[in-house]
Amino acid sequence: MRNYETVIGLEIHVELKTQSKIFCSSSAAFGGEPNAHICPVCLGLPGVLPVFNRKVLEYAIRAALALNCEIARFCKFDRKNYYYPDLPKNYQISQYDLPLAREGHVIIDTENGPKRVGITRIHMEEDAGKLVHQGTVTTTAYSLVDYNRTGVPLLEIVSEPDMRSPEEARSYAEKLRSIIQYTGISDCKMEEGSLRVDANVSVRPLGSAEFGTRTEIKNVNSFRSLHRALAYEVERQIEVLEEGGRVVQETRTWDEVKGVTISLRSKEEAHDYRYFPEPDLPPLVITREWVEEVLRSLPELPDARRERYMSEYGLPVYDATVLTATRETGDYFEACVRLHPQPKVVSNWVMGELARLLNATGTEISASPVRPEQLAALLKLIDDGTISGKIAKTVFEKMFDTGKDPQVIVKEQGLVQITDENALRAVVREVVAGNPKVADDYRQGKDKALGFLVGQVMKATRGKANPALVNSLLKEALEK
Ligand code: ADP
Ligand code: MG
Repeated sequence: MRNYETVIGLEIHVELKTQSKIFCSSSAAFGGEPNAHICPVCLGLPGVLPVFNRKVLEYAIRAALALNCEIARFCKFDRKNYYYPDLPKNYQISQYDLPLAREGHVIIDTENGPKRVGITRIHMEEDAGKLVHQGTVTTTAYSLVDYNRTGVPLLEIVSEPDMRSPEEARSYAEKLRSIIQYTGISDCKMEEGSLRVDANVSVRPLGSAEFGTRTEIKNVNSFRSLHRALAYEVERQIEVLEEGGRVVQETRTWDEVKGVTISLRSKEEAHDYRYFPEPDLPPLVITREWVEEVLRSLPELPDARRERYMSEYGLPVYDATVLTATRETGDYFEACVRLHPQPKVVSNWVMGELARLLNATGTEISASPVRPEQLAALLKLIDDGTISGKIAKTVFEKMFDTGKDPQVIVKEQGLVQITDENALRAVVREVVAGNPKVADDYRQGKDKALGFLVGQVMKATRGKANPALVNSLLKEALEK
């Protein structure tokens, strides 16, 4: 059964977060009242002419450079003809034979080390509108059309069929999202549709030189679904072949609830788009000077940042990977390290307590109630012995709930660590006197007994005693 190799190629659509649409001045913002962001141009009314938004080209070049592509010196737009209610012009302005960029790549982490996944091409196009289906089959089914999304700028990023497992496909999609987010051209929110993945997948007998027949899966709404859908589809195709059948080239949709892919349309029903050059838009000549300028404006990208976190901060590869996955996490970490230059300590807190509470409350790190300077202040309090590491976790939770500074919380709740030897010595004496049996055990060589006594002192001081001091004071008291 397992003598097959999986082959996957992804087509990823990314919506650009420009202010206005690609060919008119209507707002490109997500959401809004239905049909509030529209004008005669994006509605495709007779007699209107598209005007290309220069910002789209700048953003597209940013993305293409970040994905290591060759930028065309000359490219043009083409009409892709098809009829659908969400496409009022009956054609989509896209790019066909002369796309903006080609031959890029992304490096992904796999269990066998880094792997290069090729990018075939990147082209610019306009998004279509949205159909909102109402009613049910048993009542009256009808659909409403919202044209707000019509004409929102899109990039289509087509990969080479270089991935060999659902895991690799997921890594590639996540890495691509990370890189695009760093460039600031899209927020890449799968749940809002600003990043959409179509997955092409086939299987072939191990050792075979030719690719098998592929299917294309649409409608995956998360990276987890992408992985599940591909894993299901690989098994399905292998089963078809094992039973002596052949895989049909078709488009399938992922049913998240049932956990299966379902046939949508076969190749025979595929559109013939009758592409032809868009006559209303001039071709684009892209100067090298401009490309150079955009290249210089790119921020440090995740791979470079990860390397730097390992070399400059001495972080393990795992920490460096997690902290650089989003630009915001890296920015948070760096802001904190600037104030508290102990990278590994800061990393532990950002990946540990902070990540835990952000996750639990569904909060983005950019909206964290604890700001980097507040976390740094908390770490200072541990460092100078004001509070113990254990109390710090309690303080951090309160900071997260209230947004207050750690100094304020420590003061309000009386959490300052007890480092006064005389005060602690009194507590120690009481604990030893109150537990004569345990104290004897310790004196007779049962080292474990000490732990119990430390616990009792901590309990009596509500966790505020300095643990190192308690240890030495107890030993001192027991030796008498
Ligand atoms: P189309 O024009 O029909 O969309 P493309 O040749 O542009 O077809 O390929 C679309 C995507 O499918 C690309 O990402 C490519 O890597 C992938 N692909 C092509 N052939 C296969 C195959 N046999 N198995 C898996 N993926 C494939
Ligand atoms: Mg395609």
